[in-house]
Amino acid sequence: MSTRIVPRAAQVRCNECGAPGAASLCHHCGVALCAMHTHHPGELARMLLSHEFGAALLPESLRNTQPAHCAECAHRLGAPSPAVFQFGAALTVVGMALALWNRSPAALGLAALGLLIALISTVLGMRARAS
Ligand SMILES: [Zn+2]
Ligand SMILES: [Zn+2]
Repeated sequence: MSTRIVPRAAQVRCNECGAPGAASLCHHCGVALCAMHTHHPGELARMLLSHEFGAALLPESLRNTQPAHCAECAHRLGAPSPAVFQFGAALTVVGMALALWNRSPAALGLAALGLLIALISTVLGMRARAS
């Protein structure tokens, strides 16, 4: 049996399954991905996390482009949207105001919940910036 080596041009393959051609690149680690193995953020993640391309200088037509992730990078949480912190802070202020007016457990609970939301969003934001 003889082996013949046929030179071919290199081609991009999906990092997960090896399918030829790439639909996208993971924007964290840069590996090529086919359409089936491209992860896009879910609707809830898009609402609660700040836009990953928010700080990039993109033309207006690309503002809503969603970043693609490989399986390994997809579960990494981004920084929470500033709106989540603002919501928590507003809830704390409303809860405190209600507690001053009428010292009820519900008002104190509302203030505690707002404080918790603000605290969690701050910690998640610090973790996302550190990684
Ligand atoms: Zn694939
Ligand atoms: Zn990746």
